[in-house]
Amino acid sequence: MVYPKDNIARALIDLGAKENVPLSELVSFRVGGPAAFVLQPKEEGSLGRALDLCRAAQIPVILLGNGTNVLPSDEGFSGLILQLSGDGTAPLFEGEKVTVGAGCSLTALAKESVQRGLMGLERLCGIPGTVGGAVAMNAGAYGGEIKNVLKRVRCYREGGFAWEDARLDEMGYRRSPYTWPKTIVTAVELQLAPDDGTAGDTMVDCMRRRREKQPLSLPSAGSTFKRPEGHFAGALIEGCHLKGCTVGGAQVSELHAGFIVNRGGATAGDVLSLIRHVQDVVYRETGVTLEPEVKRLEDLLCIF
Ligand SMILES: Cc1cc2nc3c(=O)[nH]c(=O)nc-3n(C[C@H](O)[C@H](O)[C@H](O)COP(=O)(O)OP(=O)(O)OC[C@H]3O[C@@H](n4cnc5c(N)ncnc54)[C@H](O)[C@@H]3O)c2cc1C
Repeated sequence: MVYPKDNIARALIDLGAKENVPLSELVSFRVGGPAAFVLQPKEEGSLGRALDLCRAAQIPVILLGNGTNVLPSDEGFSGLILQLSGDGTAPLFEGEKVTVGAGCSLTALAKESVQRGLMGLERLCGIPGTVGGAVAMNAGAYGGEIKNVLKRVRCYREGGFAWEDARLDEMGYRRSPYTWPKTIVTAVELQLAPDDGTAGDTMVDCMRRRREKQPLSLPSAGSTFKRPEGHFAGALIEGCHLKGCTVGGAQVSELHAGFIVNRGGATAGDVLSLIRHVQDVVYRETGVTLEPEVKRLEDLLCIF
């Protein structure tokens, strides 16, 4: 069934979608032009309905969590952004198992787990994304990874929602089979362990290291580049004297060369030009290819 465009717009708005939302409000880089529609579905029913509408009218869709690992374009996006973030559902703790919606904050979940005498998430505290985004990216820090505690995943795939056992052997460094566009994670089940007495101190220590080493006062998307085999991206970039290098409002952080920050007024184009410049210089001087960890929003576009 093909819907006239006005009807689609009305149906999306009836589901709660907002029109003409600046992408800069949805992503931690604070850059990007307007999105035609943004919907934060509160439950699977409205998520499925929105996907059905977009499929019927061939409207392009992009899925976001907290937008802490994406770079939009200055031109914006003419389709629907689905944002699975902050749905407000409380995690369900049953012994050492926790079941939680994809939109829950990973940091809030890590803190609550430690408060409840559980360990497994303490090293991930401070990663500013959602639980769904963490599973999609296999987020990790300070020797911990979400895959270490992932038990089951509830996903939307090929038209239906279903739980499945986590496919851990397909997860690796910032890699997971649970990522858009093939898959939407709507909930996960994590298997934590009883705190051996170290979880609280580990969490505090990881947070302290973040505050000391990362430019948290400026908008960014975290580490701009993946860790190249046998190297650290930040050290390579610093070794090429690129700390502080600036294009428009985008800058290689003076605190941590692995981060590109928005010093104020950066465009997405500034960030992209700086990413390319850093890649060029590092390749020329060291022979190492830096692969962005940050995803470009236009690469996430999907027409069903
Ligand atoms: C200051 C700062 C520090 C950071 N530190 C770390 C760190 O230590 N370790 C680390 O790994 N990352 C870090 N990051 C990057 C980022 O926070 C993580 O990658 C995080 O897991 C992304 O989650 P998100 O909800 O923001 O996802 P988004 O950025 O919104 O999306 C990222 C990708 O996941 C997909 N996605 C999002 N939600 C879902 C879902 N429910 N189902 C399927 N696909 C989905 C999106 O389509 C996109 O492809 C940091 C970022 C910042 C800004």
